[in-house]
Amino acid sequence: MGVALPWQWFAQPCGISKDQSQLLSYFLSPLVALCAVAAIHVTSLGNHCLFEHLLGIPCPGCGITTSLFAILTGNLVAAWSANPCGFLVFASLLGQSLVTALEYFSVLDRGARLDFALHSNSVVASFLIIAWMAHLIRP
Ligand SMILES: [Zn+2]
Repeated sequence: MGVALPWQWFAQPCGISKDQSQLLSYFLSPLVALCAVAAIHVTSLGNHCLFEHLLGIPCPGCGITTSLFAILTGNLVAAWSANPCGFLVFASLLGQSLVTALEYFSVLDRGARLDFALHSNSVVASFLIIAWMAHLIRP
């Protein structure tokens, strides 16, 4: 089961198989997410964290968008300051695109890609919680 993404709508009529278009989706999704981060910063939509609004404390993901944008623009100190886990999120997004490309070229199989996604997401989630707790203890 998958979600039909716009590039799949164009890929399938062009003779690209469903499996290939799904891999294309998995490859492009992290990259689209990074582009969305840049768009959010460029448009200055501001901070709209519901968790922080309701509870008065930042959530584990607060600062990730700022951190990712700082990484994309080469400001690594600002990225670390916004949320150190931004580096892990960035690496995970790029890693998932890379692993998907390796599956596309038959270097890795589907299980390896799924294992990478599961483990990288688990590592990112774990470090988000650890960094969040450290931030709450020592802001
Ligand atoms: Zn937040």
